[in-house]
Amino acid sequence: ALTIGIVGLPNVGKSTMFNALTKNNVLAANYPFATIEPNVGVVPLPDARLTRLAEIFGSERILPATVSFVDIAGIVRGASEGEGLGNKFLANIREADAICQVVRAFEDGDVVHVDGKVSPQSDIETIHTELILADLQTLEKAVARLEKESRIKKESKPLLDNALAAQKVLEAGTTLYAGGSAAGVDLAMARDLGLLTTKPFIYVFNLDEDQLADADLHASLRSLVAPADAVFLNAKLEMDLMEMSPEDAQEMLEGFGATESGLNQLARTGFHTLGLQTYLTAGPKESRAWTIRQGWTAPQAAGVIHTDFEKGFIKAEVVSFTDLDEQGSMAAVKAAGKARLEGKDYVMADGDVVEFRFAL
Ligand code: GDP
Repeated sequence: ALTIGIVGLPNVGKSTMFNALTKNNVLAANYPFATIEPNVGVVPLPDARLTRLAEIFGSERILPATVSFVDIAGIVRGASEGEGLGNKFLANIREADAICQVVRAFEDGDVVHVDGKVSPQSDIETIHTELILADLQTLEKAVARLEKESRIKKESKPLLDNALAAQKVLEAGTTLYAGGSAAGVDLAMARDLGLLTTKPFIYVFNLDEDQLADADLHASLRSLVAPADAVFLNAKLEMDLMEMSPEDAQEMLEGFGATESGLNQLARTGFHTLGLQTYLTAGPKESRAWTIRQGWTAPQAAGVIHTDFEKGFIKAEVVSFTDLDEQGSMAAVKAAGKARLEGKDYVMADGDVVEFRFAL
């Protein structure tokens, strides 16, 4: 499964947020998938459509899609020099599919900031700098190798040019995710060289409770990280919310001028940043969301349920959730002529409720 690595300077609230995230593991333990590692938080992707499907089909249970977060402890200034935790840290980031930086915005005289003052901008720059330095080291070796190779093989020339273009972006202090494409860097090619800053970034701003509804502050923090996504939450509050009933949690959130918990926002943002989407299946046993990549075809989507479904794919019977919701039953949707039979070239759309036909 794709994972999002959580990074951040010490004392910004990573552990607090991660503890809130892993509270879900108890819940997730009922899900039909493999064991959950202690440093992995599996967060269900909130999806109200599943509740409605379960009502229509009388499903016994609901299985939402999930997003996995990995706690990557140990970034400090100098991590790129590979000292102490540095190497392990970089190896862990290399394995993650996206990077989520927790940034401290809350003020609390009792919680020491490593640099002596709270500054979201300089925290972000510190981590960027470490990752950029690590990438520049990787590139130094790659460029030397590609220069030799391209003298013999002309196929290596584009790889070399791309590596040199990436180097320029990084030398200007910009991550490849933020500045690579605009500078003509092929990010997929750069990713193959193991460059960390090609990964998508998400920023979580850990705020004071009274900053949760401060739209001006959010806008100014957002502008620090654009075009990457930003999530605003209070890590301590998220911990408390996990211990409440959904109703009490909702009431508490509304009291702070928020509509949805920060962890829910983080799950949705993470899912989107990873380039994922879901399709739905429903029946008396379960209503379920299945995770696919954006742009996948019906047979590829079927393969997520079972590889045999992909191999033996014949047709997909598809209805849109909106039609099903309106009509109230599968029979009514069919009677209204709104059920479609789709073939192997069909590209899945968000909100498709599907039944696959296949031959074994
Ligand atoms: P980490 O080093 O990034 O993992 O940070 P921790 O989660 O251990 O938090 C460091 C300290 O900050 C702890 O004492 C937390 O209780 C406190 N803390 C975490 N989040 C918040 C927050 O949102 N507001 C305030 N005031 N304190 C927080």
